[in-house]
Amino acid sequence: MVNKVTVLGSLNVDTILKINRLPKPGETMQMNSKQNAGGGKGANQAIAAARCGAKTSFIGKIGNDANGAMMLELLKEAEIDTDAITYSASGTGQAFILLQESGENSILVYGGANQELSLEDIDQAQAKIAASDFLITQFETPLAGGEYAFELAKKAGVKTILNPAPAKQVPPEMLSLTDLITPNETEAQALTGIAVKDEVSCQQAAQKLQALGVKNVIITLGSKGAFYQTKTTHGFVPAFKVQAVDTTAAGDTFLGSLSSQLDTDFTNIEAAIRFANKASSLAVQKLGAIPSIPTYAEISANN
Ligand code: ADP
Repeated sequence: MVNKVTVLGSLNVDTILKINRLPKPGETMQMNSKQNAGGGKGANQAIAAARCGAKTSFIGKIGNDANGAMMLELLKEAEIDTDAITYSASGTGQAFILLQESGENSILVYGGANQELSLEDIDQAQAKIAASDFLITQFETPLAGGEYAFELAKKAGVKTILNPAPAKQVPPEMLSLTDLITPNETEAQALTGIAVKDEVSCQQAAQKLQALGVKNVIITLGSKGAFYQTKTTHGFVPAFKVQAVDTTAAGDTFLGSLSSQLDTDFTNIEAAIRFANKASSLAVQKLGAIPSIPTYAEISANN
C-alpha cells in the first residue's frame, strides 16, 4: 500500500555564498561563488516522501517571483500535488548560507511568504488533509497554522507528525494533538531539558514528551542512529556507517522517507526507521539538500 502524505511547511531558495571568512563591520569583501538551490524543511521532507513513492501533497506559500516558480517546478518534478500552494505579495522564502573556508556556516533566513501562510489557506486544503494517512509539519511556517491543521487532521482520523525544528517551545495543545514527534538531539533537549546521549536518556526524554501528550517519539541521533518509543515498545536502531560529506537535510530525508513506509498504527516503526536510516545515510554522502535525497529504488538497491 502506498502512503498518502501531506506536508504543511516551508519553501525556501537557499543561496550558498562561499567566502573566505565573515566580513568585519564596515568591510566590503568579494565572495568566491554564489549558487542557488531548492530547500526549506517542508520542501525537503515532501520530496523525500515522494521519491520513496508516497502520494504527496504540499500546503505552503510562495511569492509571485522566479524563486517561487523554481520551487514549484522542483515539487512538480517529484510528482507532488501543488494545488494547495498559494501566493503572497511577499517574496518566496530564502536562506542565505555564508559558507566559510573553515567549513563553518552562518545562515540568514528570510521567512517571506512562508510566514504568511494563513488559517484560510489551511481551510482551503482541508480535503487534502482529510484524505491523507499522515500530515507532517515543522516550525518554518506560523505555529498557529500548524496547530490548526493538526486539529483538522485529528478530526478526520489522520495521523500527525511534528518535526519540532528549528527548536522552539511547543504549546501543550499542539503536543496533545501529535501522534509522532521527531526531534534531533538538540531539539529533544530544548523540549525536555534532558541532554540525550544514550538509550537511557533518550527514554527519559521520550517519556517526558509522552507525559505532555505526544503518543510516539523518535529521537534522531545523527551518525548514531535513532531511538523510538511507542505506547508499548522502545528501541534503538543504529545508523549505517558511511563517510558523510554533507549532512544538510539528513533529518528531512529521514522523516520524509519514514512517512512513506510507516503503518498508521506504528506497528512497523522499527522497520520504517531502518529504511529511513538507510535513506538518510545515502543523503549524507552527497552534497546539497534536494539533490542528495534518494529514491526508493536507490534505497532498496543498497539494502
Ligand atoms: P538533523 O539533520 O535533523 O539534525 P540528524 O543529524 O539526527 O538529524 O540525522 C537524521 C538521521 O540521518 C540519523 O538518524 C541517521 O539515520 C542519519 N545520519 C545523519 N548523519 C549521519 C552520518 N554521519 N552517517 C550515517 N547516517 C547519518
